Amino acid sequence: MPAIGENLRINGERLWDSLMEMAKIGPGIAGGNNRQTVTDEDSEGRHLFQNWCEAAGCTMGVDTMGNMFATRPGTDPGALPVYVGSHLDTQPTGGKYDGVLGVLSGLELIRTMNDLDIKTKHPIVVTNWTNEEGTRFAPAMLSSGVFAGLHTQDWAYDRADAEGRKFGDELKRIGWQGDEEVGARKMHAFFELHIEQGPILEAEGRDIGVVTHGQGLSWTQVTVIGKESHTGSTPMPMRKNAGLAMARILAAVDEIALFHAPHAVGAAGHIDVFPNSRNVIPGKAVFTVDFRSPELDVITDMEARLRTVGQKVADDMGLEISFEKVGGFDPVEFNEACVSAVRDAAERLGYSHMNLISGAGHDACWINRVAPTAMVMCPCVDGLSHNEAEEISPEWATAGTDVLLHAVLETAEITS
Ligand SMILES: [Zn+2]
Repeated sequence: MPAIGENLRINGERLWDSLMEMAKIGPGIAGGNNRQTVTDEDSEGRHLFQNWCEAAGCTMGVDTMGNMFATRPGTDPGALPVYVGSHLDTQPTGGKYDGVLGVLSGLELIRTMNDLDIKTKHPIVVTNWTNEEGTRFAPAMLSSGVFAGLHTQDWAYDRADAEGRKFGDELKRIGWQGDEEVGARKMHAFFELHIEQGPILEAEGRDIGVVTHGQGLSWTQVTVIGKESHTGSTPMPMRKNAGLAMARILAAVDEIALFHAPHAVGAAGHIDVFPNSRNVIPGKAVFTVDFRSPELDVITDMEARLRTVGQKVADDMGLEISFEKVGGFDPVEFNEACVSAVRDAAERLGYSHMNLISGAGHDACWINRVAPTAMVMCPCVDGLSHNEAEEISPEWATAGTDVLLHAVLETAEITS
């Protein structure tokens, strides 16, 4: 295999122009984008992407979940393709780069390879995964999840938005239900470039995040039962204050996460007290504790500590407590060879880099279950994402795409 020269770079200006062109479709109200999944705007973005891919000599396949696959052939008809990609859908008040960079950087690889007449043994396929965001139709990463066998297609089609419209019906309506069987494709490897959506790379002054793990998540819903009574006339010793128990447990949640510093995190984002009235001591509190860590045994330990502490708080106060696990997924460990390909690429190109753990879910986390997978991350300003003010620099986008190019070429094996 010919060596990959360190001077081999993508065309950063062309990449940036494409990002800006795509951002014109489904503009937001504050400079970002509202191009939610399976809307007319989503369809328009898909057509633009398809036109660009076909102009670059690729053939487009679409599966029954609307996932798009643009193929640049390899020299060995028997070799499995190397896949790259992410998602073109956005949050209702989303940015111009979350997901979009991962798709259009894939297109830029193809354009660069065409310019330089680079051939690879393995075909290269650029992918747009349908409904990564999950805002309109929960859950997130819906179609990569069906592709990887986490959900059935029937279940996915049946997801409804706030107006009661079904995902499957909407996919058909916008004309992007393809005929390829979802999940039938086999991959040699999958790479996803994504903005970090966190502040670490910028704070550390690094160009590239080499993503080694994706965080696992655990949701435990806690219900504390006390007794509703008057906030003025109930003596302190006679109160059964479920709100106070919740406060003590939440302080413990913070300590539990800090015990497993620096990678574990914990908080309760969903809280209800009943009856939620100014002059009534809460008789019931229901809240969901969200624990995350890249290590499964840490998550298991945090769940166990929550139950122990919660039970003790309730017992000491004479209250009842119950725990229910209502969601979660295991941590992801990305493929060693693919991760090394990303690190070697950053090294060869002379970009500063560091290992990262992805705090958010990504399509790559699901695809990792069915193919050797890795992620590249580039910084974003102030770590801001899922916000119209999301911003990156053209230099960051270029560096991330250069690394993606080198990692993909190493994996797809250059023949000329
Ligand atoms: Zn994303």
